[in-house]
Amino acid sequence: MSNSLSGNPPSPDSNESSPPARVKSNRVVGPLARFAEEWAHEATRLGGRTFHGKQIFKWIQARGVVDPQAMTDLPVALRERLASEGLAGVVTVLRERRAMDATRKLLVGLHDGTSVETVLIPRLSLGAGAAVPSAGSTGLAEGIDPIDTLDDSDAAYVVDDDDDDDDTENVRDIDGDGTRNAVDSRRAGHGSNDPPLGGDATDSSGHCPVVPVTQCISTQVGCAMGCVFCASGVAGLKRSMGADEVIAQVLVGRSRLEAHERLRNVVFMGMGEPLHNYDATVRALRLLTHPEGIGLSSRKVTVSTSGLVPEIARLGSDFDGQIGLAISLHAADDETRSRLMPINKKYPLAMLMQALRDYPLPKRRRITIEYTLVAGRNDGVEEAKKLARLLRGLPVKVNLIPMNPIEASTLGPTAPSGVDAFQRVLVDAGYSCFVRRRRGDDVSAACGQLALLGAKPKVRVNRS
Ligand code: SAH
Ligand code: SF4
Repeated sequence: MSNSLSGNPPSPDSNESSPPARVKSNRVVGPLARFAEEWAHEATRLGGRTFHGKQIFKWIQARGVVDPQAMTDLPVALRERLASEGLAGVVTVLRERRAMDATRKLLVGLHDGTSVETVLIPRLSLGAGAAVPSAGSTGLAEGIDPIDTLDDSDAAYVVDDDDDDDDTENVRDIDGDGTRNAVDSRRAGHGSNDPPLGGDATDSSGHCPVVPVTQCISTQVGCAMGCVFCASGVAGLKRSMGADEVIAQVLVGRSRLEAHERLRNVVFMGMGEPLHNYDATVRALRLLTHPEGIGLSSRKVTVSTSGLVPEIARLGSDFDGQIGLAISLHAADDETRSRLMPINKKYPLAMLMQALRDYPLPKRRRITIEYTLVAGRNDGVEEAKKLARLLRGLPVKVNLIPMNPIEASTLGPTAPSGVDAFQRVLVDAGYSCFVRRRRGDDVSAACGQLALLGAKPKVRVNRS
C-alpha cells in the first residue's frame, strides 16, 4: 500500500451510527484494523496521550493516510514512533485492470506473496462507458503498476448494490446495453426494455454528479468450501486474511476512486467464505460501518455466505440483523446442493432455511438469494418451481447468475432461454428476481470466481 491512501472522504450522509465496537478477536490485530480505543492504548505506550488514539484512527480509516509523517496534528515524537508500527505496505496493488464501463479489478498482493482480488464497480448509467473519465486521473501513488485495459467482455459482472427500501434502484441496466435485466413481479414486465435507472447523468449545471461505487472484497486466499463451479473453491484454502488486510483492501480501493466517485457499498463476494473467517470479518464490518472511520451505512454492506448456519446466527445477533445478508443457495434440494456445494452436507437446506427465518432482519429489508445457474445441474423449470416453494414466506429477492465458466471445470452456464424460463417461474410465483449477467465469457473479473492468478487448481472437475 502506498503511504497516502487519501481517497474520497466518507460522505456525511453515510454516517449512520454503527453498532458499538465489541472486539472479539484473540489474535494479534494488525494496526490498520485497530479501533480508536486500541490506538489510544498504543499511543500512550508510544509516549503520546489517550486522545491521540482517535486522531490516528481517523487519519487511517476516514482519510486513508498511513504515513505517520502526514498525520499533522500529532506531536512529532509520536509520529516518529508510529513509523515502526508498520502501517504502510500491508497490501500492494500488483495490477489494475479496467473495463469499458469503468469497472476496475485490482490484484492485491499480501505480505507473504499471496494475492487476492478486489473489484470496484461504479453504478452504471446511460452511456456510462463513454462518460466516465479514464483511469489514472487520481494521481495514483508510487509503486503502482500500469493499468491494463479490460475489454467489454472482461468486465466484472454485477453485484447487488441496490437499496432494499428503494426498489426503483433494483431495476437497472446492469449490462450497460440499455435494457433491463431485472424483473420485479410487482412492476416490470418480463424482458422490459425501459431505459436504465442509473440516475447518474450529468446535471443541467454541467457538474459531474457523484457516482456511487460498490467494492467487492475478498476475505480469504482461496476457499475451503469446495464449491465445484467456483475458482476459489476448486483451488482450496491457502489462508484466511487478517482484518487489517481486509480493510487495507478497502482503503486501497477507495484511494483509487476518481473525483466523481464515492464508495457507497461493500459486498463480501470476492474470494473466500467470509463466515469461515468470522472474527476478521466482524472486525472489518465494524470498521467499515464506524461513523468516524470509513462510515458506510450497515445496510450498504453485504456479507455473502455459502451457508455456515451457526455463523449466520452469530452475525445476526452481533449486528442485530443490520448487515445485509446474501445466501449462495444454488439448489433447492439437498442432493443437488450437496453435489454443487459440499458445505450442504454439514448444513442441509432445512437448517439453512431455519437460519434465514431466524435472522433478525429489519422491516422492509430482504435477504438476497444468489442462484448460479449451471447448465444441466440446477437450472430446469422443475428446479425453479422447487426453489419457489422452498423460499415461500421468506423476505427474499433472488439473483440468478448464469455460471461464469472457470478454467478448472467443464461446467458451464445455462443458455439464455433457460435463464428466462427459470426467471419466469420465480416472477410468476411473486418473487423479485433479477438476472445478473456478464457481457462475455471471460470470467476473470467476476466476483465470486475471481481469478487465482498463478494458482493451480487442486482438482479438475468434469462434467460427466
Ligand atoms: N463465499 C461466499 C462469497 C463469495 S462467492 C459465497 O459463496 O457466498 C460470491 C458469489 O459468486 C456466490 O454466490 C458464489 O456462489 C458465486 N460464484 C462463484 N463462482 C461462480 C461462477 N463461476 N459463476 C457464477 N457465480 C459464481
Ligand atoms: Fe467458497 Fe463462495 Fe466459492 Fe463456495 S462459492 S468455494 S463458498 S468462495
